Amino acid sequence: MAPRRPIIGGNWKMNLTRAEGLALAAAVGDVASAYPRVEVAVFPPFPYLDAVRAETTPAVAVGAQDCSAEAKGAFTGQVSVGMLVDIGVTSVLIGHSERRHGLGETDAILCRKLARAVDGGVLPVLCVGETLAERDAGRAHEVIATQLRGALDGHSEASMSQLVIAYEPVWAIGTGRTATPADAAEAHRTVRRTLQDLYSARFAEKARVMYGGSVNARNAAELFAQEDIDGGLVGGASLIASDFAAIIAAAAGR
Ligand code: PEP
Repeated sequence: MAPRRPIIGGNWKMNLTRAEGLALAAAVGDVASAYPRVEVAVFPPFPYLDAVRAETTPAVAVGAQDCSAEAKGAFTGQVSVGMLVDIGVTSVLIGHSERRHGLGETDAILCRKLARAVDGGVLPVLCVGETLAERDAGRAHEVIATQLRGALDGHSEASMSQLVIAYEPVWAIGTGRTATPADAAEAHRTVRRTLQDLYSARFAEKARVMYGGSVNARNAAELFAQEDIDGGLVGGASLIASDFAAIIAAAAGR
């Protein structure tokens, strides 16, 4: 089987002005062009998506931080996959913990968002991960498996062929506290085991699984050296062009 292509995503969350975002996008474009082996994506806030896509090179995929579970209609404030596709967005984060825990998004909602993304031909990045209380209770692996099963419920193996998973332990996001490479690798094996149970060994081997949670320029190489870690979803460090560049370089060297 062909080796999995490393993938690095920058989740800008609700940060940056338009001008700052465009400058960052241009810088990321230069770096991504220098490392074609790595798939590089940025996830700017909705109002900047169109401008960022126009500013950066085709070497950078532009993704949204969320999408509606609905196709169209009376859903004030929501953004459909069709609208995202219309402006050239090619991927979408689904189930980021700040939406699961901050906004109460359930596996059932995420399951429908996945359907919308796949129907629209957009690369879905499904985020899963346990809270600190769940980890301390010894439930991390059960939580990861349950979140995967819930979001993938009813989705066929063929329809999920492009699926990317981001394992993001909630306690590591934005906290400066990173999972040890060994703990992260173990969680990634749980992701693959679950995908194998749901679909097939081939699917589990082929699927790309990113790690997210306080990835930075110093710890990236050690995390990405783990066999089952195919790159990273990066929040804070993706806002600093030189740090994000170092993380992309680390992924290129894995
Ligand atoms: C994230 O937003 O997905 C994330 C991992 O953030 P940070 O890198 O800041 O922990």
